[in-house]
Amino acid sequence: MRERSRKSVREPPFRESVYWCPECNVPLVASTCGCKTPGYEIPLTKPYDVRPALEHDRNVIKKYLNDRFGIETIPKILLLNKSGGIDRTDTIIANGVIFSRLTFDPPLLREYTIELTPDALPFVIEEVSKGIVDITDEVAEKGGNRHMGGKNVPCTTDVTDGPVIVHANGRYGTGWLRNNVVKVKSLGRPPRPPIEMPDPPDREQVIRCNKPHLKNLERHAIRFIKTEKDLRPECNVAFSGGGRTAPLFVNLPGRQVSPTAIMSIPDWNSRRPLHLLSHLESR
Ligand SMILES: [Zn+2]
Repeated sequence: MRERSRKSVREPPFRESVYWCPECNVPLVASTCGCKTPGYEIPLTKPYDVRPALEHDRNVIKKYLNDRFGIETIPKILLLNKSGGIDRTDTIIANGVIFSRLTFDPPLLREYTIELTPDALPFVIEEVSKGIVDITDEVAEKGGNRHMGGKNVPCTTDVTDGPVIVHANGRYGTGWLRNNVVKVKSLGRPPRPPIEMPDPPDREQVIRCNKPHLKNLERHAIRFIKTEKDLRPECNVAFSGGGRTAPLFVNLPGRQVSPTAIMSIPDWNSRRPLHLLSHLESR
């Protein structure tokens, strides 16, 4: 009995990864870009909630990276993948890599912290002008140890506690500074010349690159509604505008809902349900 009830609980069909087109430098919802280049897969973290960074997010990220590391430019396309943490925590995906991790410190500090990943360094290292902890001497004392990942290294620095860039004799990495001890997460030589991923010309490029697959999803949705609409005496159509919008159920007893009426509602926002209802009622 228990076995049966366990089996009946199905995992919702969440997308567990996104793809990235290395030519267009944009995220993809399917494995091939509109430009025909195969994308590579980037796994997402649970709860598989991913969205583009909007203006407020971009401003937070830009300000922090500038204040902390002196980084002037951030990639135009940033994805935020919600991940586990005490308060808000997002993994930032950019330039086709896990770029950084944004956390909002619990209520007392009320501050964002952004920790760059080693994969982000090749894109930003030329611009980093502060937030650097030099451990060249400490590494030399350990006989030039090449494997510093995970090591706690006492150091003298005037950098404030938090995420830092670690430097040791031409090698760079990431770390976390606390009470004059830096926990080194990585240390390696940045590629020469640094990796460059040109930004797409505009954000609409992301839509253009994903258009074939989005059209495909729309075709499937219309086909599904067309198949189902005559099989039931009532038609329920669920809408959701995202995390902050409660789903709306349009219940039209005895009516046949035209799929084109639903799919052609442009610019969905909180006022649209009323428009949609009157649109459907008039048919
Ligand atoms: Zn492409």
